[in-house]
Amino acid sequence: MNTLPPKTDASAYNFGFLDEYAKKEIRRAILKAVAIPGYQVPYASREMPMGRGFGTGGLQLTLSLIGPDEVVKVIDQGSDDSVNAVNLRQFIEMTCPGVSTTTRTVEATLIQSRHRIPEHTLSAAQIIVLQVPYPDPLVVVEPSEDKRKTMHGEADYSRLLVKLYEDIVKFDEITLSHRYPTRINDHYVIDPSPIPRWDVPKINNSEALILFGAGREKKIYAVPPHTKAEPLAFTDVPFRVEHFHDATGNRRTCSRCGCDGSFLDEFTNDAGAKVYQCSDSDWCDEMLLQVKSWREVSA
Ligand SMILES: [Zn+2]
Repeated sequence: MNTLPPKTDASAYNFGFLDEYAKKEIRRAILKAVAIPGYQVPYASREMPMGRGFGTGGLQLTLSLIGPDEVVKVIDQGSDDSVNAVNLRQFIEMTCPGVSTTTRTVEATLIQSRHRIPEHTLSAAQIIVLQVPYPDPLVVVEPSEDKRKTMHGEADYSRLLVKLYEDIVKFDEITLSHRYPTRINDHYVIDPSPIPRWDVPKINNSEALILFGAGREKKIYAVPPHTKAEPLAFTDVPFRVEHFHDATGNRRTCSRCGCDGSFLDEFTNDAGAKVYQCSDSDWCDEMLLQVKSWREVSA
């Protein structure tokens, strides 16, 4: 006979959903990850009330770090309004009473994100948690985890470099659009999660602590503040980010706010034409406000 009380409201859960032992273990793993930048620390990833692959690794990091004064922002592909972001935010609100949430990057103290780092430069007072599907960049060249561990330990990334070189031979350039292998603090190469190339330079010498959580693969790793992060490249084929130039070589702008310095998403409108808009919805809103106030001043 089931004697447990029905868990229908937030008070039936521990603050932050996870039990205190789980939080302690995750915090210890975070400390180790910060102490050895780029090293994948194994941890006992908990079952969460959502499928693995929906950000359970990132969520466990967020729930272990969260305090009652936290201001949390959750984004998915740059947007606060997508289904995944809304569900995770609601879950955090339900299990962490007193915590406030925001869509504004500058107001947030803790940001959980899938596939993007915000356009706003993050500050030392902020932590960003990235959701990771595949933590090990070596998995494309070596199936055995044992062997990969040795390769990481010896900083032997020659096979990964050969893979990039093969790309250049075939396509004249490195074709990776996301998950670009990045060397941290001159040693470990990480998979920076499926962020576009555009976001990779933001990891280098970041003021904010960057944490990576892979729930299914049970790994946590980190890039601490002011740490060197270099995308793998060759001296004659340097790393480059997306350029967003049109056929005539002009930089495309956001169709909503007019910004010409942000990462753009491509849409097809009702007329079948391609339209570009800022991927970071908070950035786009802010730029739009600036444009409006300039118009008011000049009117
Ligand atoms: Zn915009």
